Amino acid sequence: MYSISVPDEKHKYHVGELAKMFLPEDAFRIFVGQPDAELVIGAGGDYNGSKRKAYAFLKKITGKDLDWGILTGVRPGKLYNELKAKGADPEQVLKEQYYVSDEKIALLRRVSECQKTVKRSPDPKAAGLYIGIPFCPTRCQYCSFTSNTITKPAATAYLVALFKEMDAVRTIMDRSGRTAESIYIGGGTPTSLDEEDLKAFLMKVRELFVNENTVEFTVEGGRPETITEGKLAIIKEAGADRISINPQSMKQHTLDLIGRRHSPQQIREAFALADKAGIGVVNADLITGLPEETPEDFRESLSEVIALGPENITVHTLAVKRASRMIEEDPGVALRQADNVRNMLEDADRMLTDAGFEPYYLYRQKHMAGNFENVGWCRPGTASLYNIRIMEEDQTIIAMGAGAISKVYFPAENRLERVPNVSNYEIYIERIEEMIARKEAGIL
Ligand code: SF4
Repeated sequence: MYSISVPDEKHKYHVGELAKMFLPEDAFRIFVGQPDAELVIGAGGDYNGSKRKAYAFLKKITGKDLDWGILTGVRPGKLYNELKAKGADPEQVLKEQYYVSDEKIALLRRVSECQKTVKRSPDPKAAGLYIGIPFCPTRCQYCSFTSNTITKPAATAYLVALFKEMDAVRTIMDRSGRTAESIYIGGGTPTSLDEEDLKAFLMKVRELFVNENTVEFTVEGGRPETITEGKLAIIKEAGADRISINPQSMKQHTLDLIGRRHSPQQIREAFALADKAGIGVVNADLITGLPEETPEDFRESLSEVIALGPENITVHTLAVKRASRMIEEDPGVALRQADNVRNMLEDADRMLTDAGFEPYYLYRQKHMAGNFENVGWCRPGTASLYNIRIMEEDQTIIAMGAGAISKVYFPAENRLERVPNVSNYEIYIERIEEMIARKEAGIL
């Protein structure tokens, strides 16, 4: 058991987050003001200074270097752009003060360059809209989202409450003069709604929120087995121009292990249907570090997904969070797969670059295998503005549905205020009037 002493509780949190990236949680302890600890960090320095001292110590005892250095935050791209806006040399700062590797700095540079091609200065009156449908056909092993197995009565009751919230948001937007710049329908799996419910829902979204300033409208399909010709026609009719179909892996054994009840063939069929329907941009999510997967498995999946022809491919790194079933059944998977993930991400960078994709947004999560990152790749001109804005945190996001968290942006102070909904969908239905009152107070 290694011991580190820090000057106060806040330093304990920051140094603790870094130590978790080097060692299992039961292999170290952090104390406040413990003079006989193996590393004693004194008072008077800032968090980054303390993290640098801890980094040197942890590197010495483990022999490890971290690609993201002392950066424990989830938005390194935002830091890169902020340093640049302040007139600093972001690459020098990231290398010398944060110990970020040359490879990750090069990745951030590419992301920043690609964003310039789509990003416009945010209009303070424009907002991003998020609407969540918290149902899926089954629950994936690694899932930590608001997701419940869908039934018709549950979906019907949920939509009644959601429609009330959507009507209220329309009124709030009218009163505050806001319009929707982008609309994102997520979850859950929105396409787990049957055609009747999906049609009622998406037509209402169109009627209430789509306007001449709306630049993109995305519907997350997610689970390939929920995609039908009829649902794609409804999505198109509602005016959505982006859809996500998420294979995660093209290997049947892996899909079985992670609780996805669909086959690789259903993935192929869903892409063929989306192609036939003529949805503008299709995104495909893949995950690196899934249980038992080797770098070769990942290369095969990625190669097949590229051949299926999506305009966007998002390469995630497995994150095993406390709300997932995987944390109980296989808590060590992320640590075990860390070296494989490094290889998989290197392969993804090479293969996607060779296929003509560019990285356009990037974020990190806690509890990720190897503490790496998720990267959204796009064919030129197909980046999602909604995804970029979410990472930059420079626009108000009004979020509706169970588990949705609105973020109100105050440009003068460059800060966000959160207005959360409850995440349990039954409690959301019961307390819908309170959710609406929270929004009125928080947004108006
Ligand atoms: S499809 Fe997504 S939201 Fe649904 S259970 Fe799987 S990980 Fe969770």
